[in-house]
Amino acid sequence: MRAELLSVGTELLLGEIIDTNSAWLARDLAELGIDVYWSLRVGDNLSRLKHALTEALARSDLVVLSGGLGPTDDDLTREAIAEILGETPAVDAGLEAHLRGFFDRLGREMPEKNLKQAWLIPSATALANPNGTAPGWYVEAQVGGKRRIVVALPGPPKEMMPMWLSEVRPRLPVSQSALFIHTFKTHGLGESHLAERLGALTAQANPSAASYAKRDGVHLRVAAKAETLDGARALAEPVLGRVRELLGRHIWGENEDSLPEVIRCRLEARGKTLAVMESLTGGLIAAELTSVAGASAVFRGGVVAYSAPAKRALGVSGSILERFGSVSEEAALEMARASARQFGADYGLAATGVAGPHEIENQPVGRVHLAVYAKESRRTKSLGLPALNREMIRERAAFAALALLWSWLEAL
Ligand code: ATP
Ligand code: MG
Repeated sequence: MRAELLSVGTELLLGEIIDTNSAWLARDLAELGIDVYWSLRVGDNLSRLKHALTEALARSDLVVLSGGLGPTDDDLTREAIAEILGETPAVDAGLEAHLRGFFDRLGREMPEKNLKQAWLIPSATALANPNGTAPGWYVEAQVGGKRRIVVALPGPPKEMMPMWLSEVRPRLPVSQSALFIHTFKTHGLGESHLAERLGALTAQANPSAASYAKRDGVHLRVAAKAETLDGARALAEPVLGRVRELLGRHIWGENEDSLPEVIRCRLEARGKTLAVMESLTGGLIAAELTSVAGASAVFRGGVVAYSAPAKRALGVSGSILERFGSVSEEAALEMARASARQFGADYGLAATGVAGPHEIENQPVGRVHLAVYAKESRRTKSLGLPALNREMIRERAAFAALALLWSWLEAL
């Protein structure tokens, strides 16, 4: 079965709201094993909405619309569906009573404009909306000799999602085909290097393997489709094993794992504590580390030591800063050491570098030095990030520091 999503609303085209409904519906359809080939946004305009709906019905078995079910003149989804199918909407007595009851309970008079929310066309079934006034529509019709399903859902996600789950999903004539998805989260390999390592694995369709660049590294999503979830899992299993072999130590997590959480677990397992000293990342590393519950058991604290005097005041050796400069591997290591000492932590982590747009101490924009320190072991890493913008350099530096810490912990 092939599905198409149609989000209705001029706000979407103006960029005033983001089309989260489509993303949510697309994920759920994928889980049901229904292919989504097109996803479109269209404004509150009857002729363009009809045009989009006509095209969707020509190529897709299931068309899911969201938005435009309100009572006002620019809510046109019902009108468009009725006109395309050549049916005439009529007020449904049951829906009208329900609607009037809703307003009665609020102690308000129902504006007559709202009456169109009680409309139905002959081929539509009303979908209950316990969270708002607009019922949805589930329409089964023949279009050009083909069997089509049109679903109209309210725009507000709090109304749309429960309606989809309890009213639409059970009605869909889906085969039992199911999708199994497993995500690997990696660091230290670019997308093209990762593809090179995986070779033919990324070219096959079922199971499929696709990579996505994220702020915490490259994610690899393996998906398999079969009649049942167990069947899909069995199909994916050999590929998962092969990916683990090929990517090995570059994999820091899977599925819902987050880098700060993985690090917290490692530290807790070792019974060790961590402190941080940051320069160019300005607290981003500490913010990530403290984003997970239970961080206080392993994270002692962090400081932003932005200037050389601040670094010296926090115990960084002035002679190292003078000899090597504050943007140097030596300075990063000294900062990591100083943070561990200042906070009485077992390990120290530090980041220094040039976020731009100007050079510092003749070091180019994007130069970053990271260090992790312990009495018995230490490691540094230098990066030359593309000189794009401050925000990106700072974020990438922060996640590279976390990844360095993670891989160092793995190797200890
Ligand atoms: P209402 O009865 O509230 O008017 P509606 O079905 O007519 O509902 P819209 O008027 O299109 O829906 O949208 C109402 C609100 O729902 C929007 O202001 C927005 O907050 C949210 N919304 C609509 N469409 C989307 C979407 N595709 N993704 C996320 N939110 C949306
Ligand atoms: Mg509306």
